Amino acid sequence: MRQNTLFMPTLRDTPSETDAISHQLLLRAGLIRQLAAGVYSYLPMGWRVLRKIENIVRQEMERAGGQELHLPVMQPTELWHESGRYADYGPELIRLKDRHGREFALGPTHEEVITALVANDIKSYRKLPITLFQIQTKFRDERRPRYGLLRGREFLMKDAYSFDMDWEGLDITYKAMFKAYHQIFSRCDLRFTAVEADAGTIGGEGETHEFMVLSDVGEDTVVTCSSCHYSANIEKAISAPSSDEQSQGEHSESVEKLHTPHTKTVEDLVKLLKVQAKDILKTLIYVADGDPIAVVMRGDHNVNETKLLNDLGVTTIELADDVTVLSVSDAPHGYVGPIGLTIPIYMDHEEAKIVGGGIVGANEEHYHLKHVVPGVHFSANRQGEYREAQEGDVCFHCGAPLQFDRGIEVGHVFKLGTKYSEKLGAKYLDVQGKEQPMIMGCYGIGISRLLAAVIEQNNDEHGIIWPKPLAPFQVHIIPVSIKDSTQVAIAEQLYKQMIAAGIEVLLDDRDERAGVKFKDSDLLGIPIRIVVGKDAINGIVEFKERHRDERLTLDQETVLSKVMEAAQN
Ligand code: ATP
Ligand code: MG
Repeated sequence: MRQNTLFMPTLRDTPSETDAISHQLLLRAGLIRQLAAGVYSYLPMGWRVLRKIENIVRQEMERAGGQELHLPVMQPTELWHESGRYADYGPELIRLKDRHGREFALGPTHEEVITALVANDIKSYRKLPITLFQIQTKFRDERRPRYGLLRGREFLMKDAYSFDMDWEGLDITYKAMFKAYHQIFSRCDLRFTAVEADAGTIGGEGETHEFMVLSDVGEDTVVTCSSCHYSANIEKAISAPSSDEQSQGEHSESVEKLHTPHTKTVEDLVKLLKVQAKDILKTLIYVADGDPIAVVMRGDHNVNETKLLNDLGVTTIELADDVTVLSVSDAPHGYVGPIGLTIPIYMDHEEAKIVGGGIVGANEEHYHLKHVVPGVHFSANRQGEYREAQEGDVCFHCGAPLQFDRGIEVGHVFKLGTKYSEKLGAKYLDVQGKEQPMIMGCYGIGISRLLAAVIEQNNDEHGIIWPKPLAPFQVHIIPVSIKDSTQVAIAEQLYKQMIAAGIEVLLDDRDERAGVKFKDSDLLGIPIRIVVGKDAINGIVEFKERHRDERLTLDQETVLSKVMEAAQN
């Protein structure tokens, strides 16, 4: 392709309000443009890379036995009522009405549509198992679209759905998908890890794993054991506090009221009372599906809201506002305590072990209570696993230290079981002629998120450094001056030679200053660069790989073989 007419509007300066490198580079290199918050156009270079990602995904899905199809974006919301997700999905589901007032949703995911389709057309065990997939635009009205393609409201996803006769069958399909995902992310040259995950609103009864690309902009936290193979999303992670963290203390002292003015936070209390955060039992008021509840936690621990939500069996939980806090405790935020509360109290198993008693809010402004012992001075309505794993914790399984990293979730595999097949009637007749629900799995990959994730892991201060399998072109030929006829002739000759050899090549035939051409070339990040400059007159050109600093000088005759050799590595 010739760059002179290429639609690749590069930007010299970093666009404002972009806090992820991938977002900056996608804009600067002219790969995408924003239309609205979380809604992007893919320009030719961005689209080329996306198609390469798609092709890798498609190949591996087909290799794992998947069949590609294409489902409608517009989904009648009756289907969502039938599955029970209409309410669960909340405002993320984009709804619209047709001219007859019939309500539709723009597909955020396609469990309902595919299950209804299969329910209608597959009735016998002879047609099972089957795995169907599509690559399609999805719509989610995310609360916080951000980081460019990492969290969009309109984005590209590969979604696959499997239908098996039984759980053993699903296990085989799940493993095949898991393996295909490994293959896909390896072929994209990503550093990734598969972690145990929480099922979220997609739901289901079985295991689920997320594939995480390790990166500082990741919105997820990945917890991995430094010794055994345990790894999990923090939403799901279990851990044991290290032994030196257990609270010590005397049991015998009686509750004492402390005057603690202006101590709204754990840090304030720690400073004033010269205690440690672990000696404090903080009481957090949450609203769970509209009802207030209290959660008691050690001052140095955090609530794992996903675990709490799952344990409560509710669809939404959020921290209560000031008015609610005051109405349930008679005290403002910061002075709430468990003694005397009439709402349900939830407490983590670990916190119950605080032997010497802890410091709690007195439910009176500017006061706290000391030596409060769970089970003695107040009792929790329920104890469970509500604590978030944190730095310093050790592996629940083997006791080795846990490591915490940020990760971008690029893929997710779920064992759904019968959640959708029961509700939407996906049943088949088994060998004995008996009706059985199909056992489902679903498998997603964020194709456009992957594009951004690849850039997050592959860049330097000058621009993108594409892994070869994803690069928009393999070779970038740059004649330094378009006014020099020798340079142009050699560049053209190399260009044609490479096209004939089936190499994807971009020729910078623009009448631009050399500096501009080099800057754009680094920004775009094509793996191999051939510069045809002042030595062209002697048949000599420069060869440079984007990820290396050294420049080689080559005789023009040897360029093709050198390029072929480098393309293999
Ligand atoms: P997240 O927790 O990041 O919101 P999710 O659990 O909602 O993700 P799934 O419903 O499992 O995601 O969707 C499958 C895949 O689609 C995800 O693994 C991710 O790669 C991608 N994806 C999800 N939401 C977005 C989004 N808003 N923008 C881009 N890609 C997304
Ligand atoms: Mg989501």
